[in-house]
Amino acid sequence: MAELDKPQREVGVPRDWTYASAPESRDIVQIRERYGLFVGGKWLEPAETYETIAPRDEEPLAAIGQASPADVGSAVAAARTAYADGWSSLPGSERAKYLFRIARILQERSREFAVLESLNGGKPIKESRDVDLPLAAAHFFYYAGWADKLEYAFPNRRPHPVGVAGQIIPWNFPLLMLAWKIAPALACGNTVVLKPAETTPLTALLFCDVLRQAELPGGVVNIVTGDGRTGAALVENEDVDKIAFTGSTEVGKEIQRRLAGTGKKLTLELGGKAANIVFDDAALDQAVEGIVNGIYFNQGHVCCAGSRLFVQESIYEPLVAKLERRLETLRVGDPLDKNTDVGAINSAAQLDKIRELVASGVYEGAEIYQPPCVLPEKGYWFVPTVFTNVAQSYRIAQEEIFGPVLSVLTFRTPEEALEKANNTPYGLSAGIWTEKGSRILWMAQRLRAGVVWANTFNRFDPTSPFGGYKESGFGREGGLHGLEPYLRFDE
Ligand code: NDP
Repeated sequence: MAELDKPQREVGVPRDWTYASAPESRDIVQIRERYGLFVGGKWLEPAETYETIAPRDEEPLAAIGQASPADVGSAVAAARTAYADGWSSLPGSERAKYLFRIARILQERSREFAVLESLNGGKPIKESRDVDLPLAAAHFFYYAGWADKLEYAFPNRRPHPVGVAGQIIPWNFPLLMLAWKIAPALACGNTVVLKPAETTPLTALLFCDVLRQAELPGGVVNIVTGDGRTGAALVENEDVDKIAFTGSTEVGKEIQRRLAGTGKKLTLELGGKAANIVFDDAALDQAVEGIVNGIYFNQGHVCCAGSRLFVQESIYEPLVAKLERRLETLRVGDPLDKNTDVGAINSAAQLDKIRELVASGVYEGAEIYQPPCVLPEKGYWFVPTVFTNVAQSYRIAQEEIFGPVLSVLTFRTPEEALEKANNTPYGLSAGIWTEKGSRILWMAQRLRAGVVWANTFNRFDPTSPFGGYKESGFGREGGLHGLEPYLRFDE
């Protein structure tokens, strides 16, 4: 018998395929020991600093400036000067050139930014590389396109810039949130003072290099780092004309109270507790992928995360079985490993919050499922978790966990799904899975959510407006709608 014809029985078929690690090199990023505040195009030395770390192993990365109210005042003054000294009267086509340049430089330096984002924030490199960076550049490209077309965007309304915009962003999408805020503000002729989140300042500070490379005039964009006190000083500064905030509902409410009666413009993009609704005619495997993407993307640190899964009763068992099987294949670990699906939790404080809410779910009677998973010893980690047997009243069905934790509930009819989905103080996003177009439209019209995805989840595009109802905030970012908060009109 020829060698090839012999039965190959003795060759064992591998049953357990493991991934070799594929770490992205961090050498591409030069992190300085100490960063100042970026004011008027120069680095200002802060009186006080704090340490920023890598959540994957708690490694100290750099000393970061804690901007005082006086520093914030200097940044606002620099922004005011730049506004008055030419930026606000620059033709839109000239402003657009700077935005295009910034977009191009972000693309050119995207690997450097992606590595730094994953290092400082904990998100998997494949997400920062394939989602955060391309989208951040796309926002600058998109709003560059609007800069000289504002009269066409708002016909007969004669748009003007608002002035100095104070922008406060969270830690879940540090560079992308910066792009969401800065691109429309500059396109409309405003100048900016931006405060990144305390735990994730590094990509915003690297972005200052991009501003210099793009030769943006000093003072048009100023970056002040620090904790909540720096944010509060920016809100309270009397020379700021508009505040744009993304973060928790609690801080959003506080900002709204402080600005009441001041005449300052305000947009708030706050928390969420999105319903992801699966009907019995949905393509189940596709839905499972959407559910996983909806809640485990970016460790669930997503304001529009699909954290409440509503499953039609007749498919509950097969869907949950498929979901639990899929969870076993998620790779949790080093954010810089290109194979990682779920990275590190952003901070010790956020990990405590997730643990506390998960303990409340167990205490209140929900059934917990966590796949077998070896977590790294150092750093902040949480196993992707599914809760079944969840009642609507449980805290895990009501409160934003902002972690990789899914609560599964059931429904029988579309009306019941709708009622349960809308039974939340939030209203940021929702998902519908069904093969019937008419049902998608019927549900989408009635769901009280700013964004409704159908047969997909967590899709973003700069042309599409994003924002919430009720305690999820007000105002829209993205698209033509995203220009309006940065403009005033002669009417
Ligand atoms: P915060 O709302 O505290 O943080 C958002 C931003 O606001 C940060 O830059 C923060 O600074 C700043 N800030 C804090 N206090 C004030 C203040 N009084 N005035 C002005 N700015 C302020 O969110 P946390 O980071 O504390 O997260 C807490 C919870 O909020 C999370 O568990 C999650 O549920 C939710 N969250 C929702 C987000 C969303 O996109 N909807 C984003 C982030 C969090 P600093 O970083 O120094 O605190």
